Amino acid sequence: MKALFCYSEDDFRLEEMPKPKITSDQMLVKMSYTGLCGSDVIKIFDPKDKKPRVYGHEFVGKVFEKGDNIKSFDIGDTVVAAHHIPCYECHYCLHGNHSMCRHFKETNIYPGSFAQYIRLSKEHIEKTVHKLPESQDLKEAIFIEPLSCCVRAMDRIGCLKGDYFTVVGVGAIGLLFIQLINLGGANAIAIDLDSRRLSLAKDFGADYIINPKDVDLVKEVRKITDIGADQTILTVTNNITLNNAVNYSRDGGVINIFGMANKRQPFSIDFERVYKRELTIKSHYSGTPESLKKAYDLIVKGEVKVGPLITETLDLADFKEGLDLMLDKKIYKAIFGLQQG
Ligand SMILES: [Zn+2]
Ligand SMILES: [Zn+2]
Repeated sequence: MKALFCYSEDDFRLEEMPKPKITSDQMLVKMSYTGLCGSDVIKIFDPKDKKPRVYGHEFVGKVFEKGDNIKSFDIGDTVVAAHHIPCYECHYCLHGNHSMCRHFKETNIYPGSFAQYIRLSKEHIEKTVHKLPESQDLKEAIFIEPLSCCVRAMDRIGCLKGDYFTVVGVGAIGLLFIQLINLGGANAIAIDLDSRRLSLAKDFGADYIINPKDVDLVKEVRKITDIGADQTILTVTNNITLNNAVNYSRDGGVINIFGMANKRQPFSIDFERVYKRELTIKSHYSGTPESLKKAYDLIVKGEVKVGPLITETLDLADFKEGLDLMLDKKIYKAIFGLQQG
């Protein structure tokens, strides 16, 4: 079968590898579509992440082969799944840090979703594989996994009616957050340097939009919220976005780190202000099988819309092109298929 091997940040090769073999408790899924996630991008650029490697975890596919013991799915079913599964019993899990669970980190789909076929383990099948209804648009279903991460973050953050959330960076993730904030009855203030993206944020339900290039960001947030933002979600965390958030958060406000900037830079932050104003800095990493099920329902029922985020599908052989389009912000998400799949 074909799989996309990443050798370095600018060397990607579609190569042949053996099709994964399955046991009587496993399934092989033929990839229909797979999405490039911001977390894949960070790993691709991380020299410490071991390569060559097949990345990818956002996928929709059809059951191609199944073991004799699999009764809950049939050949041809279209499915989605979470790639990591926590143990629910360890110290991390008992404290709600499911994505820090060692078992969570060890479980994965094989070899990664940038491949023609993906093997799902017994544990995946029992805990996190979901069949999609036939009416479901397959490309839209790619957003179930990223939405799952946002859902888990919102569950950890808590959404009080009437609160003011700033969402910094309105790429795909920011637009998903805006909709979850709306569903929670809070106000969403979208912040981005790209006016075109801000206008789509409005269509997606942002109550306010701010382009820091045009106005004084801190003053503008204060004008809208009076006392400052209750919650900030940083989909892009760098020195500037973090320090801005410290400045426009209300006393006692919370800054939530959800995504890092691709280019690393040292942070300097005024911790005396953080302390005296009782600010909290939290982070949220990845989703769980539970948040994936919630995200599945939101997308299948159409309560979260993603249609406008989808552009054309690229062939996995043109991976670099998709990566560049996403890095250059020309598309919201690179979605790949396999031409001769
Ligand atoms: Zn993802
Ligand atoms: Zn655990």
